[in-house]
Amino acid sequence: MARLPGVGAKRVQDFLKLGVETIEDLITLWPRRHVDRTQLTPLWQLRVGEGATVRGRVEQAQEHMLGRGRDYLKIRVSDGSGHLDVTFFHARWLKRQLVPGVEVLLSGRVENFRGRLSMTHPECEILEPGQEPRLGLIPVYPLAGDLKQRFVQDLQARVVPRWAPQLSDPLPDAIRQQEDLPARGWAILHQHWPASPNERELSRRRLVFDEFLRMSLAVLWLHRSDPAVPAPVLDVNNALITQFLQTLPFTLTPGQTEAWEEIRADLSLATPMARLLQGDVGSGKTVLAALSMLAAVGSGYQAALMAPTELLAEQHYLLLKRYFHPLGVALVLVSGRSKGGDVGQLASNQPLIAIGTQALVADRRQFGRLGMVVVDEQHRFGVRQRAQLGEKGLFPHMLVMTATPIPRTLALTVYGDLQVSQITGLPPGRQPIHTSHLSMKDRRDAYVKVMEVVRQGRQAYVICPLVEESEEIQGKAASLLAEGMRKVSGWRVGLIHGRMSADEKSEVMELFRQRAIDVLVGTTILEVGVDVPNATVMVIEGADRFGLAQLHQLRGRVGRGDYPSQCYLLADPVTPEAQARIQAMIETQNGLELAERDLQIRGPGEVLGMRQHGVAGFQLANPLKDLALLEKARDAARALLSADPELAHPEHEGLRQWVFDALNAALPGHVLH
Ligand code: ADP
Ligand code: MG
Repeated sequence: MARLPGVGAKRVQDFLKLGVETIEDLITLWPRRHVDRTQLTPLWQLRVGEGATVRGRVEQAQEHMLGRGRDYLKIRVSDGSGHLDVTFFHARWLKRQLVPGVEVLLSGRVENFRGRLSMTHPECEILEPGQEPRLGLIPVYPLAGDLKQRFVQDLQARVVPRWAPQLSDPLPDAIRQQEDLPARGWAILHQHWPASPNERELSRRRLVFDEFLRMSLAVLWLHRSDPAVPAPVLDVNNALITQFLQTLPFTLTPGQTEAWEEIRADLSLATPMARLLQGDVGSGKTVLAALSMLAAVGSGYQAALMAPTELLAEQHYLLLKRYFHPLGVALVLVSGRSKGGDVGQLASNQPLIAIGTQALVADRRQFGRLGMVVVDEQHRFGVRQRAQLGEKGLFPHMLVMTATPIPRTLALTVYGDLQVSQITGLPPGRQPIHTSHLSMKDRRDAYVKVMEVVRQGRQAYVICPLVEESEEIQGKAASLLAEGMRKVSGWRVGLIHGRMSADEKSEVMELFRQRAIDVLVGTTILEVGVDVPNATVMVIEGADRFGLAQLHQLRGRVGRGDYPSQCYLLADPVTPEAQARIQAMIETQNGLELAERDLQIRGPGEVLGMRQHGVAGFQLANPLKDLALLEKARDAARALLSADPELAHPEHEGLRQWVFDALNAALPGHVLH
């Protein structure tokens, strides 16, 4: 990387944050999406609610200083045919550049603000004098550190066309022809710079196939050479379990009981359990995690619970502390803030339960006697991580919990050999969550409801709209929203977002739990796991921007107690897909059904604005949408390995390297060549 012109030591560091170390990493740093700049719209033709790209000159620029981190910049742009008002939250670097006279290209959604055409935080490119705008489908890359979009675009425009055709193509021609896939070099090039959405889709198909094939080969290879690693036999009727079930303030639902029977049968065998526990949001998966971990602790082993975020790890810790304190079970929260002593306990052979994020088992060796691992709502945890657990002679049992149903083929590919349990039904007495859609001009109605429930001593969440740029901007948008609400309402408003420190976050959650906060304004950080039964209203601003699974998870934060709950989706959806998502949310509350609807909605037409799905090392693959392709890749992997178990044929050399790369990433220290 450092040899590329324009890439100095600082930028090398910034690229490292994106996982880009080599040129090959760089050219496979995929655009998050493309901005459709195939067409420029004159300002007088803009229509409210539609997306557009415009070219104009800055007439006025005014900075609004609201104090730390909440500044914003307002500019007015004209192209001779009309005017457009534009607001930027993240004005730090823009304010120096967006001065009157400068020519800009703006891409975003047209809104109507007090009778004027406006855009909020559009994609913005400054045109140098004399420079013609780049038109077409423009890639938008993930950024880190001080990297600028334009810089990465220019770099990729130089590097990709030069290097992509030189990369070898590991896929045997026979498979390529059979599946009708383009060459890898072509696919890489057109993933960055497609001439049309069709070209981009064709290129994506090839790259997704590669991701699936690589993963399938690695999983099958791993199992092929898997010696029978024993797992500890756990006493599933131990005293801790009995005691826990007695002190629990409720009895297990039939669905929970059935799943527990399946789990406990596995735990009493000397073969490591690998089980996926699916259960809709609110179905009560945490109790089963607790039981599984008690099976280990009550048998003299250690257990680990991994959550997707530190915030959620902390929430689990607080809950489990209440559950386990009476039982005298040692509980350790491992976070960025843990002290050496806490972590040191893990290495001892003392039975305990450790709670943390995925980093917890990144190094299996820090546990002395790990018998059980529970992974909560974490789809990134896959076969690589699983392989890491298998060192030290004993393989712990593993339970992966999710509210998002995963098709079995995908589960097999991501986790290896996996059994599936399903919690059917919800705990008794659940009130349905009444879901309604309000257009932005009626959003007051939602807040009238918030006012009503706050008066009754209950609480509400408000989710701030999704801004794609970065967590930083997202945090700023959330604080603006919270600030505005504080000013006009008498509510005690709390704020939570990803950029706050772990201490700040847990403090806010604690205040909310203790009802010292009426309304919690937050980002999608509230998406999973947060459990405060007294909160009964969920307001989702800009609901059209969220995916269906995300909306379902967010809605699942309410309806957890005995009171009727409401969910308000505030949006003026423009695309048919966004309308269909909102309609689906109104029509059903069933997670399985929503997952199916999601699959129908996301037809192959969805090209622009596609978000990444970081499932277990997949960059481009969308597990639901690409299921058919996954099955093909899996079949191809099987056929390849049965014909050539060692991938020793010269034509398979590239594939062999893929497998080794994947496994080396999974098992550091066991370098394969
Ligand atoms: P999820 O499956 O979404 O992780 P949780 O484990 O957070 O769900 O459980 C949701 C809520 O339901 C919690 O407040 C929990 O205490 C409660 N709960 C779980 N099981 C039962 C049950 N059998 N009866 C009544 N309430 C239950
Ligand atoms: Mg949960």
